[in-house]
Amino acid sequence: MVAKTDRDGVTWYKCEGCGMMFDDESDARQHEENCDQEDPSYIQ
Ligand SMILES: [Zn+2]
Repeated sequence: MVAKTDRDGVTWYKCEGCGMMFDDESDARQHEENCDQEDPSYIQ
């Protein structure tokens, strides 16, 4: 799941699996698809 975060007027997208931050939502989503750190027990 990609989390949206506003910081100093800039929107960041955070991979909730590993905590990596992206300034581009498509980059974050692409990373997330390949991220193996995602916790399957995490449900939102
Ligand atoms: Zn990740």
